Amino acid sequence: MAATIWYEKDADLSVFDGKKVAIIGYGSQGHAHALNLRDSGVEVVVGLRPTSKSVEFAKEQGLEVKSVGEATAEADVVMILLPDQYQAKVYKEEIEPNLKEGAALAFAHGFNIHYGYIKPTEDHPVFMVAPKGPGHIVRREYAAGRGVPVVVAVEQDPRGDAWDITLAYAKGIGALRAGGIKTTFTEETETDLFGEQTVLMGGINHLCDLGFDVLTEAGYQPEIAYFEVFHELKMLIDLANEGGLNKARWSCSDTAQYGDYTCIVINEDTKKRMQYQLERIQNGEFAKEFMEDQANGAPKFKALQEEYSHPHLETVGPKLRAMFSWNNQVDADADMAQSFNGKIARTQVQ
Ligand code: NAD
Ligand code: MG
Repeated sequence: MAATIWYEKDADLSVFDGKKVAIIGYGSQGHAHALNLRDSGVEVVVGLRPTSKSVEFAKEQGLEVKSVGEATAEADVVMILLPDQYQAKVYKEEIEPNLKEGAALAFAHGFNIHYGYIKPTEDHPVFMVAPKGPGHIVRREYAAGRGVPVVVAVEQDPRGDAWDITLAYAKGIGALRAGGIKTTFTEETETDLFGEQTVLMGGINHLCDLGFDVLTEAGYQPEIAYFEVFHELKMLIDLANEGGLNKARWSCSDTAQYGDYTCIVINEDTKKRMQYQLERIQNGEFAKEFMEDQANGAPKFKALQEEYSHPHLETVGPKLRAMFSWNNQVDADADMAQSFNGKIARTQVQ
């Protein structure tokens, strides 16, 4: 069955005439949604903790900033862009008690609704607009007159207007310039977790570091190993992003291609492992484990962050990346990414 895809012509921003959208949180996604909607002519208020370092930053960008409760109380649409693990508590304490009758609730990831951590009453439309890209790209592309595609879903539609609001929101952040694909909260949540756990992060990150180990343990220079198992990945991914895997293959030598087809290290065992991860996502075990650890102050998460914060590749990474002149402008980002506390600074890079 072909996917349903919506574009700009399918959405009407007048849905927001005389209405107000509250953006709760001003991180990676929050700043992009707030600024893009504002620039599309939508009335926006940002909801933040009064102590948040983002308050001044959002004000500097000309946005109205209030507490989470106050912003919620005046909004017709409340988009929750907090880290997934904090959403339920903020919802219970500050959003739910202040939510206007019939106000729509929105998310950029289905996690909290799908796993039942947030349970809105039936009278509120509940929808999702999930950009398929980091917030800084969502903002950068909008400013350039383009957009990052989104997946969109409606979970509750008590009045029959939830899809109109969803598509107007997607248009407002510029996403329908690229396209919005219809999904469900279940499909988005499960596939998003699967992608990051098995390919994008749980796959690639460890594959590169493992390749680096094999070469350096065999006595090759780490600098050379870095180039061969990590650096060139970006170039290949860029080509694949432009024209698919075959374009990346086409650009490689026949020798490389022959190796690709005959020396596959990812095998049936990897597939079984992926299927196991998918089961843990589907039966809620992964979500439960993550959320219970977070509720206890995240001891396991913090220990893992520490354990994995020195990838073997990084013994030579900073030195080699300094050789790439085109990287200089993103040095500040790179420094931030080295620390896990870079959330605020992340929002300042546009
Ligand atoms: P983030 O960590 O960048 O930003 C979170 C914001 O929430 C920050 O402004 C932080 O100060 C604020 N915050 C944290 N705790 C708070 C609290 N208790 N009360 C009030 N404010 C608080 O988060 P993000 O990456 O933008 O993610 C937001 C949502 O978007 C999540 O649901 C995520 O799954 C989804 N999403 C993220 C991306 C991405 O690339 N970052 C892509 C698609 C969807
Ligand atoms: Mg994702």
